[in-house]
Amino acid sequence: LFITFEGGEGAGKSTQLARLARTLREAGRTVVTTREPGGTERAEEIRAALLSGIAKPYGPFAEALLFAAARIDHVDRLIRPALRVGEIVLCDRFADSTRAYQGAAGGVDPGTLRALERAAVGGTRPDLTLILDLPPESGLARARARAAEAGAGADAPDRFEAEALAFHARLRAGFLSIAEAEPARCAVIDAGAGPDAVEAAIRAVVAARLPG
Ligand code: C5P
Repeated sequence: LFITFEGGEGAGKSTQLARLARTLREAGRTVVTTREPGGTERAEEIRAALLSGIAKPYGPFAEALLFAAARIDHVDRLIRPALRVGEIVLCDRFADSTRAYQGAAGGVDPGTLRALERAAVGGTRPDLTLILDLPPESGLARARARAAEAGAGADAPDRFEAEALAFHARLRAGFLSIAEAEPARCAVIDAGAGPDAVEAAIRAVVAARLPG
């Protein structure tokens, strides 16, 4: 079972992923937690390059290529092997982030991104995608608070830029249109509720879709 967490900045993906992992492990499941970009040694190197802004001058298409390169290694070496032996994989962001960030928000042609995604993931697609939905204003505010807390240092949540609200609005619309296009795979979760309420909503969705 392959479950991905998606959403804009500050939606609480990482917190909720950790909580779901704990719940599933307590229920006796074997769970692998991972993230994108990253997840394997090589993909984490690409992550570091991306978050340092190396591809920025080349624009969102070049970024999409680097995300795809990282994804190839991640899927080949970590995600696919884990799924093959029956483990549950929880991934913080996946291909939908490329569709939303570089596609809906960045303006890269969706057909091009689809071809790239197909080439990178093959048949390894999420069974369930939890889209943590937040109005762009709240997401940005949360992300900025986190950056300030971290001293706006190397680990500031948004390494790409102080993104404009308009970008985040396009991003959100991008995620919501993915959910609309693929309702069997996607569940939209109101991330504006408190962390416990969000956790309960996620548990309900997962319980409904988890085999056995
Ligand atoms: O911690 P988080 O997953 O939010 O950080 C990853 C960052 O990488 C995001 O803030 C986002 O700006 C960026 N990203 C992106 N395109 C993707 C995936 C992530 O621009 N496809």
